[in-house]
Parts: sequence; structure tokens; C-alpha cells
Amino acid sequence: MGMGSTMRAVVQRSIGAPEVLKVESWPTPSQPRGDEVLIRIRAGGVCYHDLLVRDGTYRHLVELPLVPGHEIAGDVLAVGEGATRIKVRDQVASTNRETCGQCDLCRTGQEGLCTNQRFFGHNGPGGYAEFAVTRENALSVVPRSIPPEVACVLSCAVGTELHGIRDIGQTKAGDTVLVTGSGGGLGVHGVQVAKLCGAFVVGLTTTAAKASVIRSAGADEVVVVERGERFDKKLREVVPGGFDVICDNVGQPVFDSCFRTLAIGGRYVFIGQLNDRSISFNPAWLLLRNTRLLGSNSSTRRELDEVVRMVDRGLIKPVIDRTMALEDAPMAHRRVMTAEATGRVVLTP
Ligand SMILES: [Zn+2]
Ligand SMILES: [Zn+2]
Repeated sequence: MGMGSTMRAVVQRSIGAPEVLKVESWPTPSQPRGDEVLIRIRAGGVCYHDLLVRDGTYRHLVELPLVPGHEIAGDVLAVGEGATRIKVRDQVASTNRETCGQCDLCRTGQEGLCTNQRFFGHNGPGGYAEFAVTRENALSVVPRSIPPEVACVLSCAVGTELHGIRDIGQTKAGDTVLVTGSGGGLGVHGVQVAKLCGAFVVGLTTTAAKASVIRSAGADEVVVVERGERFDKKLREVVPGGFDVICDNVGQPVFDSCFRTLAIGGRYVFIGQLNDRSISFNPAWLLLRNTRLLGSNSSTRRELDEVVRMVDRGLIKPVIDRTMALEDAPMAHRRVMTAEATGRVVLTP
């Protein structure tokens, strides 16, 4: 490496189909300064979010051309003089963003909302590449017992569900929890988190073939539905009293049916929204049943540290669909787009 050298990276120069993702020579990040860390990326997760950035559904603070991906794991090659926690040769995993660390939101455990952040794969380094430089505050140290393809999914695919189900949804032992998209990269971990919280867990999926994986993740029941079908009656057959917590990784396509199965006092936690369409509902449904609609964004660095320990102790077993080469990024996106993937698809440079 050194000044002027290049690396291989997947570059998105325009909005469009998966084929806009092409491997190119891209400037290697500069040597780390201040509290920055230079990482040789070993694995980068493919998130549905990356598909929304690619097809133009998600545009907020997105700057083209970009290197996609916000789920980064790898080995530390160098650290700036201001780095205090991370050392050369550590294995690290990233949260989704680097933040200012100074503002009130950062200082009150809400760093995901920091207004002075760089989201990886939007306007900062991306995970579909050989190297990245990030601020130390975006990284957790990961023991070598956890391989890099698992390490990269710990923040977004596992931590987001931990944050949404345990912290925002306040799931307690004995609660009934519905997890939508339960065979997908987030959902399959949501099932594990809900089980760990002591809940009776129902997984919702449109892919019958994923039912066994969802059950092994800890679901007590799996409900398979057709796309576009109304399915609240099907859910009521399984849990007549409705759900105390709904962990919704899908959003608008499943809202109407799921919302009607919220129990009295239930919490509906929005974690994912797979399109740009709106929902509508009668407010009486909320006030007559004392229910709450809640939004949950991604996990904090502290939560990532927690997930690392939980995975190291075997409490959570991340589900990796497959690893693919950078050149296969378009194929990886199609696999996620068509819901063929069970668990996370990971790219390895
Ligand atoms: Zn993600
Ligand atoms: Zn901040």
C-alpha cells in the first residue's frame, strides 16, 4: 500500500438494477489519523438497506459514487495516535456508522441519531471492499473464536433486533412475540433474541422452505403466508390473544394484517421498511387497546459489544446464508431481493 495505491472495491456509480454494482480499482484509504483505524476487510454483510440505496428508494445523505455496505469485519492494520481501545492485529466488527461522539445524542446512548455522522456505504467507507478507515468509536473488538463472516453481521443483523425486541419492545418472559421476515437476515436473529428474552415466538415468512431454519432458531410456531395475502386470521389461530410485541422487519407489505393482531397493551416495533409506501390505520385501534407504535433504529457500539459477548458464549448463533466474492455482488443482491437467502449473505474480498 502507500500513497496513490488502489484496492478492489464494489462501486455503485448510478441508481439501478444489481448490475450497476461493479468491481473497480478504488483509492485505498489513507493511513489512519487521530482516532481512526485502518482495517483489512475480511467480510462485509449484504443488507436489504444496500438494495434500497442501489435502487434509489433510500436517498437520505447518499452520495454517488459509493462503495456499498455498512457491515464490516476485518483485521486492524494500523491505528492513529489517538486510538485508545483498538490495537494493531485486533479483529474488529463495525456498527453502521461513525459518529461525532460529542453531541447530546452521542452522549446519551442515542448515537444512531447523531446529526454529525457518516453512515458506511452512504457518505463514508463501505464494506464491499478490501480496506476501510473508520473512527475507533464505530468498532468493537471481536475474539478470534468468531469468524469474520459472522463478526460482520453482529451489529446490524443481530444488534438491531436486540435493540428493537429487548430494549424498545420491552419483551419480557412469557410475552408473545411475532417476528416478520423471520427467515431473513434480521428476522432469523430476531427469533433468537425473542426466545432469549423468554417469549413465545411466532415467525412469519413467505417461504415455506425456511420454516425448519426458523424453528431451529427458536420459533415455537411458524406461519407461512402468500405475498399480498391478508393473514391476521391465520395469526389469531396460533395466538388468539394477539401479540405483546410485534418485531416488524418488513413494514408496509405486512402492516395491515400484523397490526390487527396486536394484543391489549401490545408494542408494535418498526425495524424495517422494504419499500417507500405508506401505511394507514384507524387511531381507534390504538386507543381502544392501549397499544403503542414504536420505531427502532440500529444498535449502538455498546450493544455491539454486548452482542459480541452473547455470540461468544453461544447464546446467539448467527445464521449466514453463504459467502460470495466481491464480483458476485449483483448475484448477492438478487438473492436477498428475491428472499432466497436464509440469514445473511456475506461478501469476502
Ligand atoms: Zn445492515
Ligand atoms: Zn454525535
